[in-house]
Formats: sequence, C-alpha cells, structure tokens
Amino acid sequence: MIIIIKPNTKKELVSSFVAELEKTPGLQAHLVDGLHTTIIGLVGDTSKIDIDNLRTSDIVEEVKRVQEPYKNANRKFHPDDTVVDIGGIKIGGSHFQVISGPCSVECEDQICEIARRVKAADSAFLRGGAFKPRTSPYAFQGLKAEGIELLLEAKKKTGLPIVTEIMDAAHLPLFENVDVIQVGARNMQNFELLKELGHTKKPILLKRGLANTIEEFLMSAEYIMAGGNENVILCERGIRTFETATRNTFDVSAIPVLKRLSHLPVVADPSHAGGISWLVEPLALAAVAAGADGLMIEVHNNPAKALSDGKQSLTPDEFYGVMLKIKAVLAALGKSIG
Ligand code: PEP
Ligand code: MN
Repeated sequence: MIIIIKPNTKKELVSSFVAELEKTPGLQAHLVDGLHTTIIGLVGDTSKIDIDNLRTSDIVEEVKRVQEPYKNANRKFHPDDTVVDIGGIKIGGSHFQVISGPCSVECEDQICEIARRVKAADSAFLRGGAFKPRTSPYAFQGLKAEGIELLLEAKKKTGLPIVTEIMDAAHLPLFENVDVIQVGARNMQNFELLKELGHTKKPILLKRGLANTIEEFLMSAEYIMAGGNENVILCERGIRTFETATRNTFDVSAIPVLKRLSHLPVVADPSHAGGISWLVEPLALAAVAAGADGLMIEVHNNPAKALSDGKQSLTPDEFYGVMLKIKAVLAALGKSIG
C-alpha cells in the first residue's frame, strides 16, 4: 500500500503516523522523503487496513492499494490449487466435476428420476433448489424443508451427493446432511449469511452476484474463509449487461482471471448465464476450454412443465449428449472427469 503525504507536513506528524501504522502486527512502513513529496510504502498483510479510514487523516493526500484486499482467497499466499473434498469426490486442481439437476425440487418422482439419469451421464453431484430466490413473490418458492428431504431421498437411491441453496442462516440446521451449500447470486453480498457459513466446515458453492466485480466476488469468498471455512468453490453464472438476447452475459474471462487471482476451484453455470437450453452446450464447452474446474447444469425430465427455469433446462437425453462433448473437450486438454 502506498500512502502519499500532503506537502509541507511536519516531520513529527509523519513520524507519529508511521508509529501508529506499525502498531498493527506484521506491517512495516518504509518512508521515502523527497524534496516536495513524502511517500510511505506499507508492506506486509494490508488486507485488514481500512483504506477509507486512512484517507480521513489530515496529513494524507492519497492512498493506493498495490495488493488485493483479500488474503485467504489470494493465490499469492497459497500458490497451489485448493482441492475441495466432498466425501471423497474432489473438485479443483486436476479434478473436474459436473453438478446437475433441476432448478427446483418438485416431487419425489421428478428428483429421483433426474438423479438417476444425470448419474448415468457421469454427473458427480445432484443439484436442486428447495429454497428458491424468485423475482416474483407469486412464483413457486420451492418445497423448502420437504425439498431437502426429497434430495436426501434421491441421494439414498443414487449415491449422488447433493447441492442446494441456502437463503437464510436460520435454516442452517435443515442443511446438516446437505453435502454442498449453495449461496445464490442474489445473496453473494449477504455478509451475515457468509459469516455464518464461515463458521461451518461445509463446502460452499458461492455464485457471483448479478452485477458484482471479480474483486467483490473474491471478497465474499474471503468473508467465508475469514471465519475458518476454506472449502469454497466459486461459480461464474453470468452477469447483467446491456444485452437482452441472453438472460445474462456469460463472463468467460472471469474463469481464467479468478484462477489467476485465487487458488479456489472455479465452476461455471452455463444454464443461468445463457438462460436458453440451446446455449448451454456452447457456453459449457467454452467454460471447459477456459479452464473451469467444473460445471453446474440444469436438467429437467419435462422442461416444458418445470416450475422454474424450464426454458434453460436440458432434457436428460440432451444432457447426455452435452456430457459427451464436455468429455471430448476435456480430453483435448489432457483432462477427464473425476
Ligand atoms: C440456481 O442455481 O437455481 C439459481 C437461483 O442461480 P443464481 O443464484 O445464479 O441465479
Ligand atoms: Mn435456476
């Protein structure tokens, strides 16, 4: 961090300012005293420094960060890829996995049938929303606790670990047997929820907010990790832009950027990114080619009758076909599922 001191500031004021900065353990301040300008180079872990607070000091002209404001999620402090282990199924590093299933859990037959079909296509996880964040309060809100019970039933039948979204920390007891807790795009900056999840050891699939920068996304991961939970998987699911031809704009560049900045696994969700079933295949393949560690894909046994997101859902047969192409792209990169 670079702190530029206002011209003609008394040396004693600068010295006491430096002494104050160095009270934070692990921080060293290096003073560069020029003819007209004094600069302080602050090195060490500056992630806990409040930059706005520094700017309010009477002697400070400007403050510039030269290091990212996140530490736990930062690849600089953790060069090796993080591999998240979910009951023996690994994701990250050399491990690529697919998470698939319906947008919403609707009934036992629906979730069990889809689970059986996606498992046959080599999906490692079953997804399904029980608590649904819907734009309209009149739209289907999910089966809630019953939805989680039905996912557990499908898990019992197929052995597939389950991924489902949490919207309120008060619901955490219901998620005790859920394998991966999803934080949806709309809750990416629900900091109280993130803090609560940081106090658990559950793997967390954190989706990027609709209109959030990559740095904000990584700061949200940092919230979870700062509480002691290192099991975070990032999910790029498209961002809002001026474009209306697709539901969101798939930010494919976020995948290599996130992987460069962070050691956390990165998966992509082409279903919510494109919002149309025929777009899922090209976006999924682009994500794999860009280096994603996994994919989340919505699959429904009867998309036309789905209670949410039917338009972007693949049928099990279509999913099987897309999985073959995903495997082909992985093979071209010298990778495979698993
Ligand atoms: C979902 O995965 O069903 C979902 C609601 O996604 P997002 O939070 O990315 O909109
Ligand atoms: Mn959905």
